[in-house]
Amino acid sequence: MAKKAARKNAPAAAAKKVAARKSAVAKSGAGKAGKHVYFFGNGKADGNRTMKDLLGGKGSGLAEMTNAGLPVPPGFTISTDVCTIYYKEKAHIPAAIDAEITANLRKLENAAGAKLGSTDNPLLVSVRSGAKFSMPGMMDTILNLGLNDQSVEGLKSRTQNGRFAFDSYRRFMQMFGSVVLEIPKAAFEHEFDGVKESRGAKLDTDLDEAALREVVERYKAVVKKKSGKPFPQDPMEQLKASRDAVFRSWMNPRAQEYRRIYDIPDYIGTAVNVQMMVFGNTGDRSGTGVGFTRNPATGTKEFYGEFLINAQGEDVVAGVRTPQPIAQLEQVMPAAYKQLRQITTRLEKHYKDIQDFEFTIQDEKLYMLQTRSGKRTGYAAVVIATDLAAEKLVTPKEAVLLVDPESLNQLLAPGFDQDEWNKIAVATRGLPASPGAASGQVVFSADHAVEWTQQGKQVILVRRETVPDDIHGMFVSQGILTATGGMTSHAAVVGRQMGKPSIVGAGEIEVDEVGKKFRVGATTVKEGDWISFDGLSGEVKLARVASKPSEILQVINGQLKAADSDIYKRFDKILGWSDKFRRMGIRANADLPDQAEIAYAFGARGIGLCRTEHMFFGEGRIPVVQRMILADNEADRRKALDELLPLQREDFYGVFKAMKGSPVTIRTIDPPLHEFLPKREDLMVEIARLEMSPGNKKKELAEKRTLLARVEQLHEFNPMLGHRGVRLGITYPEITEMQTRAIIEAACRLNKEGLKVVPEIMIPLVGHVKELKDQKTVVDRVAAQTMKEQGIKIKYLVGTMIEVPRGAMTADQVAQEAQFFSFGTNDLTQLTFGYSRDDVGKFLRVYQEKKILDKDPFATIDVEGVGAVVRAGVTLGRKTRPDLKVGVCGEHGGDPASIHFFEKVGLDYVSASPYRIPVARLAAAQAALAVKVGD
Ligand code: PEP
Ligand code: MG
Repeated sequence: MAKKAARKNAPAAAAKKVAARKSAVAKSGAGKAGKHVYFFGNGKADGNRTMKDLLGGKGSGLAEMTNAGLPVPPGFTISTDVCTIYYKEKAHIPAAIDAEITANLRKLENAAGAKLGSTDNPLLVSVRSGAKFSMPGMMDTILNLGLNDQSVEGLKSRTQNGRFAFDSYRRFMQMFGSVVLEIPKAAFEHEFDGVKESRGAKLDTDLDEAALREVVERYKAVVKKKSGKPFPQDPMEQLKASRDAVFRSWMNPRAQEYRRIYDIPDYIGTAVNVQMMVFGNTGDRSGTGVGFTRNPATGTKEFYGEFLINAQGEDVVAGVRTPQPIAQLEQVMPAAYKQLRQITTRLEKHYKDIQDFEFTIQDEKLYMLQTRSGKRTGYAAVVIATDLAAEKLVTPKEAVLLVDPESLNQLLAPGFDQDEWNKIAVATRGLPASPGAASGQVVFSADHAVEWTQQGKQVILVRRETVPDDIHGMFVSQGILTATGGMTSHAAVVGRQMGKPSIVGAGEIEVDEVGKKFRVGATTVKEGDWISFDGLSGEVKLARVASKPSEILQVINGQLKAADSDIYKRFDKILGWSDKFRRMGIRANADLPDQAEIAYAFGARGIGLCRTEHMFFGEGRIPVVQRMILADNEADRRKALDELLPLQREDFYGVFKAMKGSPVTIRTIDPPLHEFLPKREDLMVEIARLEMSPGNKKKELAEKRTLLARVEQLHEFNPMLGHRGVRLGITYPEITEMQTRAIIEAACRLNKEGLKVVPEIMIPLVGHVKELKDQKTVVDRVAAQTMKEQGIKIKYLVGTMIEVPRGAMTADQVAQEAQFFSFGTNDLTQLTFGYSRDDVGKFLRVYQEKKILDKDPFATIDVEGVGAVVRAGVTLGRKTRPDLKVGVCGEHGGDPASIHFFEKVGLDYVSASPYRIPVARLAAAQAALAVKVGD
């Protein structure tokens, strides 16, 4: 009971957002005011493909296919608005909507020429969920609805098939019982097995009509006992209860977890599709299947999918029976196959994207049950987008929109070192459901996968078959391996979508989930043992195998020629097109020359942030830095700084050179100084050890004591709010002097060598214009002096990071001194929320579970709060200096959702870490194509 109450209340908090969405829908004119149910049938539908918000993906696809004259069983879609109402009204649907549903049901009965509950010609319907975004297997479905003690006889006489009629009835009772009445499936399975045993039947299909009649009677007893009420005979009651169960399933834990992973908001709700049943299980001239117009794992142009003869739809996706490849349908039912190919080719052209479809063949007549954009791996996404463009099905602009920026990361993931891989024997093979190299310790449950990963282990989830409840475990695993299921089973679909290497249907392995082991041939593999597999070839090996960089990285690193890598050429094509469509510049956060080179190879044209202090960690440098910090007078400090000067100059020279004249922003020292010193506790232990140890360690002891004293002196209670950033430069101007000199000397040298370099010197953590003014004076003085010494005049800029809210809110004043701004959204988020960026992990998960925060604000910009501060900073800054160059260099600069926001506020560039440059290039193009600056 408590569980249900919690579910009912959960989305109530989202009610306000729903109101906002509704008015957006009304504005777009997509739905009609007051209309909640949308009919499709007889070649005409109330909805169309543009109405995904209201009808969900499935509903809008069914409407579009109906309008296109394709063979779609008639039905109607109860809109997502009704889901919202269901939760708002505490699990109640108003009478007016019920009446609309009844009216549409009458229309459906007319179209179908059959009547729900009729004794001689009963209509049977399916009741399916369908949200805007597909959530494979996460919500509930009920098939064969409308059967009762009378209509089952009607179905028997209509089909002349008593076995089929009673098999449908028992399937319906079982689904309704478990989904709607929440009776454990096992209670039904127990009775089913009982009848099988008493009749000596091995397979389900061995049961005849009489046996299935007995199953039905036994199921009725189960329902009566477990729910306290008889199995409902009234089809309308069945329909309403099933509709409500589908709405309820929107908030089940696995659906919520799925939405959390894929950033799908709770408030959008699901639609419910009620559709005339067609039967793939009437005999050997019937069947059901799912497929794709192209291979969703590799992107290859091939008709791809699978089917089962004499089966209902759920049998394919559930992964219980291993189906046949779709090509074989051509031999079994050539006419239906030909029609299916024609229809799906047409759908791909119409939607300009790879389609994922479901069909049923009833007595050799083909019906389309669904079409939608197919989920695909990152690899396939790039191949498909470039192929569609080459086939002139899409323009380059449309191709750029077909690839999810985040999925490009999959192309950078490592593969196996082939020499290592070839040394080990193949233990078994399965279906290559999702490409990529996976190596990890075996676990057998999703919960264990999560637990072990939290302990820092790398795991592979091995299951007989995965179910939607495994989603959290799949998410954290290196890869997924199942014994059963086809290429479109749950594990395959979800694995592909996550970009997780996956192998399914590895039929030779016998999985014992309870005993936590699996057998393959004579070998037993236990929990914790290492295995590896290749999701592209389907090969599994019983060992840990080292991996090596992806083909793309090999090209970037110069180990492979671009011309020799097909995938690199395609990747480069998509990003090349992206560069044409984006407005914002792409820079990199890179601290050292080698990082800058990688960033340049990935397409960054500029450095947005060079954290100079990272250079201090280079080999042999820390003792010099420590000497600088430990100095208790300026003269000693300058001596240490003089030693650092040539080292920094060399690094800057390398970074400038790697960027080949593109702008480079170098930030002066930022972190609190104690970060460069040993920890206080470690020093105390060392001193105690020296004091105890025999021999003359007096000198060492004295040094350690001095160090400890200085560490204690530098100790701060809140170092991130303490002596760091511009405050260091103000108190120790000689550090800024040394850094300026190193930057300008390096730039002068390059300019003399013929490379025009314009350094951008950036002062961090400025909250008051006078802080910047102070540092700018130092920079200008040293720069002038250095240029004079070098005998050359170069151009340089002085700007600031905006990462303190006061800096943003007084940006009009700050811009009087600053020639550019770069938003440091890491600190800006920390200081706007007041959440320590180092400690947020302690409570963030709870905040997300309680829906206080939807997303981690350190990963995706908080538009309402931190975003408002950014917006104010840009507006105020440009009021003073209309041509002010503004960028972002916090982690958000590589996050696609944040990039959309930065496009809107009109930033000039985003800066991201080198490996996220491809994601940023593509996301910036998509943002430019989707939004107008100032929206
Ligand atoms: C920032 O605060 O966003 C930033 C880029 O600086 P750092 O992460 O070095 O504090
Ligand atoms: Mg910062």
